[in-house]
Amino acid sequence: MTNLTRRSFTALAGASLVPLFAPGVLGQGKPKLVVIGGGPGGGTVARYVNKDHKGAIDVTLVEPQKKFTTCFFSNIYVGGYRSFASITHGYDKVRKEGVKLVHEAAASIDRDKREVVLAGGKRIPYDRLVVAPGIDIKFDSVPGYSEAAAQVMPHAWKPGAQTELLVRKLNALKDGDTIVMIAPPNPYRCPPGPYERVSMFAHVLKQKGHKKSKIIVLDPKPTFSKQALFLEGWEKHYPGMIEWQDPKMHGGIKSVDPKTGEIKTDLADYKATLANVIPAQMAGKIARDAGLADQSGFCPIDPENMKSKMDTNIFVVGDACIPGDMPKSAFSANSQAKVAAMHVAGDLIKARTFPTRYSNTCWSLIETDDDVKVGGSYEPGEGKIKATTTFVSQKGEPPELRKQNYKESVDWYASIIGDVFG
Ligand SMILES: Cc1cc2nc3c(=O)[nH]c(=O)nc-3n(C[C@H](O)[C@H](O)[C@H](O)COP(=O)(O)OP(=O)(O)OC[C@H]3O[C@@H](n4cnc5c(N)ncnc54)[C@H](O)[C@@H]3O)c2cc1C
Repeated sequence: MTNLTRRSFTALAGASLVPLFAPGVLGQGKPKLVVIGGGPGGGTVARYVNKDHKGAIDVTLVEPQKKFTTCFFSNIYVGGYRSFASITHGYDKVRKEGVKLVHEAAASIDRDKREVVLAGGKRIPYDRLVVAPGIDIKFDSVPGYSEAAAQVMPHAWKPGAQTELLVRKLNALKDGDTIVMIAPPNPYRCPPGPYERVSMFAHVLKQKGHKKSKIIVLDPKPTFSKQALFLEGWEKHYPGMIEWQDPKMHGGIKSVDPKTGEIKTDLADYKATLANVIPAQMAGKIARDAGLADQSGFCPIDPENMKSKMDTNIFVVGDACIPGDMPKSAFSANSQAKVAAMHVAGDLIKARTFPTRYSNTCWSLIETDDDVKVGGSYEPGEGKIKATTTFVSQKGEPPELRKQNYKESVDWYASIIGDVFG
């Protein structure tokens, strides 16, 4: 030791001691969970794994946005019942609880090396990965529509600037103007969402005293979620204002023109002052690029645990997955996330797991205090997430019940926001 200089000792220590404490060498560093997407799917997994296991798992949440505006309750904002600020949330509490926040987009997933590659080139290793990027819009599913056209004819099916644009256009309408909505084909996020939005459009026009304005819904589907309830509500609250057309009636959507506001169908041409074009959808790009989606554009999962059918180190939750009988909703994403969180901890620290159960409820506001709901309980069965019980509001229900439904939805919103953002 006498021959060792201070410099050579430091170099030796650097070569031998430091790696001894590096996680890879001892194999005893904390196992690593990386989550892509900080919505109700990914955000719930990140928070639950971190808080339920008191930091035993190293959790990194990759989400480019510092502020997340929810799509859920965005219709309530469109109707003027909520402010934009009240549906916008930050990740400060999540960070304080110990989740590592990386506000950058994930550019790709290196499944062989088990690393997430960030847009800036940095790589984050994982033992388990949760992919929850939500949906992408298939712009070319509507002839003439594009990302540029969405600046004039908003889809507002991804939240934030699009929703604000929609509301600005709605508030600028004059009596006698026409709103045309092109509804999306199945499968899409929030099956009753377009029809709740139509109700909120009508509510705003009614509030402004419009007598001649019209809302035309061009639907590629022959039927839609809670149809009888919406049709009853529209007749009751907004008689003569809303015209819903199924594909047999309009014969197909031929084109939209963002320059003129014209929408052509086989049956007729419409001039929309406000066009709300909601195209077909698919899983977020990061999931598709990583080979996690099938020909449907969405990601198949094992209904027992939400693991990708393509890679058992990866879980896919929320709108990006194929959820069997469950609809694509924030409630479903949150429920799937809790199952995934349990199995992530089961895999990584041998935490106890329980039988898999899922649930969902989707509320829709038709007019002030007139709220209807649909939902169910689910479990793995027949190779998918299978409905075990379902329920739906009935026509002609007493007003108190409908009012109670709205109160339930407000309580649910507060509770899911607590789950995702702390
Ligand atoms: C008008 C409307 C009304 C709705 N109303 C309801 C309702 O009342 N109740 C209900 O339950 N559901 C409702 N929904 C559906 C609900 O919003 C979605 O089902 C839910 O947001 C899905 O959650 P998610 O976590 O899968 O995806 P998202 O909420 O879309 O979150 C995905 C996150 O991933 C991030 N991301 C994407 N790509 C990357 C990447 N490469 N790297 C890092 N991060 C990435 C995105 O920035 C985003 O923050 C509504 C939807 C709409 C459009």
